[in-house]
Amino acid sequence: MSDAYNAFLSDIEIPSSAAGPLAGIRVAVKDNISTKNIPTTCASKMLLGYIPPYDAHAVELLKAAGATIAGKTNMDEFGMGTTTENSAFGPTLNPRDTTRVTGGSSGGSAAVVAAGIVRMALGSDTGGSIRCPASYCGIVGLKPTYGRVSRYGLIAYANSFEQIGPMAANVTDVARLFSVIAGGDHRDSTSVDKPYDFTELHASVEGKIIGIPKEYFGEGIDTNIAKIIETSIDKFEELGAVTLEVSLPSLQYALSAYYITCTCEASSNLGRFDGVRYGPKPEMTNLWHDAYTKIRETGFGPEVRRRILLGTFALSTGYYGKYYVKAQHAKQLIRHDFRRVLTDCDLLAGPTMPGIAPKIGELVDDPLRMYQTDILTIPANIAGIPAISLPCGTFHGMPVGLQLMGKIFGEEVLLNAALAFEEMT
Ligand code: GLN
Repeated sequence: MSDAYNAFLSDIEIPSSAAGPLAGIRVAVKDNISTKNIPTTCASKMLLGYIPPYDAHAVELLKAAGATIAGKTNMDEFGMGTTTENSAFGPTLNPRDTTRVTGGSSGGSAAVVAAGIVRMALGSDTGGSIRCPASYCGIVGLKPTYGRVSRYGLIAYANSFEQIGPMAANVTDVARLFSVIAGGDHRDSTSVDKPYDFTELHASVEGKIIGIPKEYFGEGIDTNIAKIIETSIDKFEELGAVTLEVSLPSLQYALSAYYITCTCEASSNLGRFDGVRYGPKPEMTNLWHDAYTKIRETGFGPEVRRRILLGTFALSTGYYGKYYVKAQHAKQLIRHDFRRVLTDCDLLAGPTMPGIAPKIGELVDDPLRMYQTDILTIPANIAGIPAISLPCGTFHGMPVGLQLMGKIFGEEVLLNAALAFEEMT
């Protein structure tokens, strides 16, 4: 099964004898999350043969909770992509239709859950990488509030945006896994000690105000998807919630602000892959400069190289103010917009992705079009707020995801509303 979908990069089965909330449950782990004594490659040739000497904080917690680590899952190289086609190991196929992509970058994690190979998986979400594949594969995926889960041991791509988060076939399992990984950790100074209490999970959305950002139904969104989402939102009204149209005008800057910031952060974070600190040992036959160039030319795939170039350019003298600083201002505007609407509303709802899973090969040679498909997921990462994708219907036989976003540290309200929706549908 795992061969069929190429979703597992390594099948390991580390059973745990411990009792705990995840005792006997098999959990797959995205391959950018460090696992002690188990290869961790970020789906990059650069890290072939790398075996971390330590576990990520989230993995330590999984083991302590009694989970079995079932294997490491395929992804876009270093998390850079929206389809899992940018993997040095080739794409993961969507179990719902193997001619289509799984979404990305946590595509392997979504596929092994959707195919029923494991019950739960960990993903990471920098600009949508948990929610996009959850939407395309018809499962549930949660991007927690920035800081609620420690990033210790998560190999950094754009660390001001990313979070590790749970993926599973239903809301209850997502909440169960989230309760294990949430909480503070002194090794990640951006983490906050806010555990999540699983016993608080109950289906309820009555009396909650759900904002519907009109930008989430605008240009570029497939009208068939928009209709399915509107029908789903009506269900919340039947459950006793109140809906309210809201507007987030600064969202027009979200894609540019995200792609400038994430490439800048990537160009800095990926500096350590130089053949000395990390990466294959250089052949020192020539100048150091040549050896370094060769390692980075052959170790990184084309998308990673593109982003390092873009980020390095945007941070260079003369352009820094024009690009990086501007992007930070745009991020502030976006955060401010979300803060404003989330004062009036408890939750926001809209589609997760503008369409269904594309065919394999459809977007991979058109990076700009691929970037555009992130338009509805990126805003939650910029705002730092929690967001979940839930299956809510199908179009052309493929799953459609409903996205709910909550207030900072509002996972309790978010998960309760998600469960109410899931139980009703
Ligand atoms: N598609 C986005 C990107 O390529 C988000 C990826 C992610 O969340 N890791 O940056």
